[in-house]
Amino acid sequence: SSLYRIDGWGAPYFAANSSGNISVRPHGSNTLPHQDIDLMKVVKKVTDPSGLGLQLPLIVRFPDVLKNRLECLQSAFDYAIQSQGYDSHYQGVYPVKCNQDRFIIEDIVEFGSGFRFGLEAGSKPEILLAMSCLCKGNPEAFLVCNGFKDSEYISLALFGRKLELNTVIVLEQEEELDLVIDLSQKMNVRPVIGLRAKLRTKHSGHFGSTSGEKGKFGLTTVQILRVVRKLSQVGMLDCLQLLHFHIGSQIPSTALLSDGVAEAAQLYCELVRLGAHMKVIDIGGGLGIDYDGSKSGESDLSVAYSLEEYAAAVVASVRFVCDQKSVKHPVICSESGRAIVSHHSVLIFEAVSAGQQHETPTDHQFMLEGYSEEVRGDYENLYGAAMRGDRESCLLYVDQLKQRCVEGFKEGSLGIEQLAGVDGLCEWVIKAIGASDPVLTYHVNLSVFTSIPDFWGIDQLFPIVPIHKLDQRPAARGILSDLTCDSDGKINKFIGGESSLPLHEMDNNGCSGGRYYLGMFLGGAYEEALGGVHNLFGGPSVVRVLQSDGPHGFAVTRAVMGQSSADVLRAMQHEPELMFQTLKHRAEEPRNNNNKACGDKGNDKLVVASCLAKSFNNMPYLSMETST
Ligand code: PLP
Repeated sequence: SSLYRIDGWGAPYFAANSSGNISVRPHGSNTLPHQDIDLMKVVKKVTDPSGLGLQLPLIVRFPDVLKNRLECLQSAFDYAIQSQGYDSHYQGVYPVKCNQDRFIIEDIVEFGSGFRFGLEAGSKPEILLAMSCLCKGNPEAFLVCNGFKDSEYISLALFGRKLELNTVIVLEQEEELDLVIDLSQKMNVRPVIGLRAKLRTKHSGHFGSTSGEKGKFGLTTVQILRVVRKLSQVGMLDCLQLLHFHIGSQIPSTALLSDGVAEAAQLYCELVRLGAHMKVIDIGGGLGIDYDGSKSGESDLSVAYSLEEYAAAVVASVRFVCDQKSVKHPVICSESGRAIVSHHSVLIFEAVSAGQQHETPTDHQFMLEGYSEEVRGDYENLYGAAMRGDRESCLLYVDQLKQRCVEGFKEGSLGIEQLAGVDGLCEWVIKAIGASDPVLTYHVNLSVFTSIPDFWGIDQLFPIVPIHKLDQRPAARGILSDLTCDSDGKINKFIGGESSLPLHEMDNNGCSGGRYYLGMFLGGAYEEALGGVHNLFGGPSVVRVLQSDGPHGFAVTRAVMGQSSADVLRAMQHEPELMFQTLKHRAEEPRNNNNKACGDKGNDKLVVASCLAKSFNNMPYLSMETST
């Protein structure tokens, strides 16, 4: 397991067990009498055709991990607050954009209701889902309303207050203020207003483009002062209660964090001085996770602090500034998304075959007949270099020979068998002198665009590991190539700066005659929400797995098959039911060529209809029952 740095990025939730499989410790510690969950057993159980029969790719969610992440975040702040004598409390919110799955949101609201954990929304559908979920939550939990707002969005947030939900409208644009003043008067609601400040502190990593003076969001000092003046003029300065900022995701160090929080705390104190009834400092997201297990903070893939150190740095910075200015300590709110949901979801997919980028044609032997003088000359040079063991010249003559033959093929003077003969010869020479690329291409039953969009879009790396055979040394190295007809649909960069992954060898029957399962870890935040339907590969199947007393130590509490071909077609305005009828009728019409319908016999008709129906209802991925 050290090959894949599992202890680095996986602890305390994931490890390799004595059977060589990935085991999951969903509560983060040993909770005897419960046993750790063997991920392979989960996959076998939910894909068993005589049981749930789910198709891969598959997302396995562990709500217990989610609960543990929330509790750890809360206790890190509780501890920092207590140990530093801070005079208020921590009350976080989950930004729903990280993963809007209904059951994740419902779990977070339920698990966090004991400590007033709330939600953050950034659009109208998000505020609708947040409001309805928080109806079952703690009444003090915040519903922080961020994002660009129109009057409909603001009305929804004001309506939330009428429903006794603790909504806070955070101004991201100065223009939003007039709408808030106007609508709150019309709706007769006293709003709670926050403002998002553009800080000068800048996070220089990929995720830092939201921060700094030229960042996309928030109000400048000039705008903040105008907002304060206007609120004061309309007698609503008491409504301004929260200051929000967001330095950017994956904040690399506590030094940068402390710097940003201290700047914001100064602004907070200034707002108090100007007469706002400030109560909350909302430090945004940015609590990072360690994707590569290095804990170095040297790239966007890791952070150099723990949850406890993060909380301690925030509390210390706010406390220091407020004490200096004799300002009452505010409630500290954070909007951590990545750090809450990343760990609890694992994406499981299968490698279906592995091969060299260039296959060696074996059945077209190189014969000298039929080639031009020049080609024969190149061949003799290559032969001579090979006999002398001159590797460099071999590579040179291979290139020369291939190039000349391709030209000959394009001109029409060489046939396909002759070209294949030269290709085979060259591959053979390259192998014989030890210059062939040892990296294999593993074809995986997955779409990178649907399931790992951040790899394609922003080069984000996630730990990818076989979920079994970890007790056997992998003898090959590979890159992963997905099912889409797109050259970007491949994964050729891995954590640790590797351009290939150690993998177990596969033959035509899979891996040692069986299937080969891989897992992508830490992808619970952003990936599902961002994933598209390129090539009409839809979302994976999803199961929820709880630790339990059962025979395998787990229970599957929800299982949903991924989007079918009909589902993804519908998403692009096609009408699968009509398509089905059209194809079925077409099959029943007499054909011109033999004047026979392909489904004219009673039995044929049934076969055609059932094949079509199956294809509409199945997931678009390779169906492994038939392909193996
Ligand atoms: N809050 C705001 C305003 C954001 O823009 C983001 C994400 O970029 C978050 C919270 C969540 O950040 P993270 O996932 O880094 O915790």
